[in-house]
Amino acid sequence: MIDKVLQENLMRIVMKEVDIAINEGNSSFAAILIDEKGNIIGKAHNTAKTENNPVLHAEINLITEVCKKLNTRNLSEYCLISNAWSCSMCMSASIKAKIKNFIFGALIEDDMNPNITIFDIREKANGDVNIITGVLEEECKQQIENARKLKEVKVKEVSPQEELEICKEIRKKVFTDEQGIDVEVDIDKYDNFNNDTVHFLIYLNGEAIGTSRYIKLSNEKVQLQRLAIKKEYRKKGYASQLIKFMEEYAKNRGIDYLELHAQYYAREFYEKLGYLPISEKYIERETGIEHINMSKKLI
Ligand SMILES: [Zn+2]
Repeated sequence: MIDKVLQENLMRIVMKEVDIAINEGNSSFAAILIDEKGNIIGKAHNTAKTENNPVLHAEINLITEVCKKLNTRNLSEYCLISNAWSCSMCMSASIKAKIKNFIFGALIEDDMNPNITIFDIREKANGDVNIITGVLEEECKQQIENARKLKEVKVKEVSPQEELEICKEIRKKVFTDEQGIDVEVDIDKYDNFNNDTVHFLIYLNGEAIGTSRYIKLSNEKVQLQRLAIKKEYRKKGYASQLIKFMEEYAKNRGIDYLELHAQYYAREFYEKLGYLPISEKYIERETGIEHINMSKKLI
């Protein structure tokens, strides 16, 4: 069995994979498979939400991918490492794949359903099942808890005037105070309530942390504008959640296309969300900032 230092190093790699799951909006679980020397054979994370499939836990994805890659159903030579105890489905699947060695980080929550633990399964399994648990337990637990907090997020359409003022405050912080864009450029004729503009706010545990709006370009097309997330909440998946909500909102109103003028540095972020460039890079006249126009077909 690999030593403790290597166990911890490998667990950190699992935790990086967990970050990918969280950023995609999936549950915060990942797993890797290693050989006896600690070489990584495969990596996977939970994709149940994005693929609308409740069985696509990290371990299931991992076993599926590795068996396919190695053209085998027998993974007995390998050890599975996950950031939390496997659920009963995944533990059973691993045993069916003949995995004998397991390393886990955090304990799984008490409200697991069905409530069958890895140790219950080990008791019923034929042959050896070796389990090490508690590797970087606190860090793994913290990562899972933080991800859970991320879920206490609400996105809504802005309706009373007070909420619109909150949008403007957030934008002032981001566009004027941080980026040096004049308030007169930022706040414009669309910053009131009319049929062609919809404003949105994203709340985390009751605090407004970001905003955006869309304006109607035609019956089929809207333009996403003024996406602003408070500095301390960036790179945590909130912008994606806000945009996905806006896409759904627009789609439900018969809108086919969402366009946006992205600041050029954010181009990859939008590409990951499915936006394609529809222009060359250019300097926006009002702000002097490099931009690119992008578009996504919603239906
Ligand atoms: Zn599972």
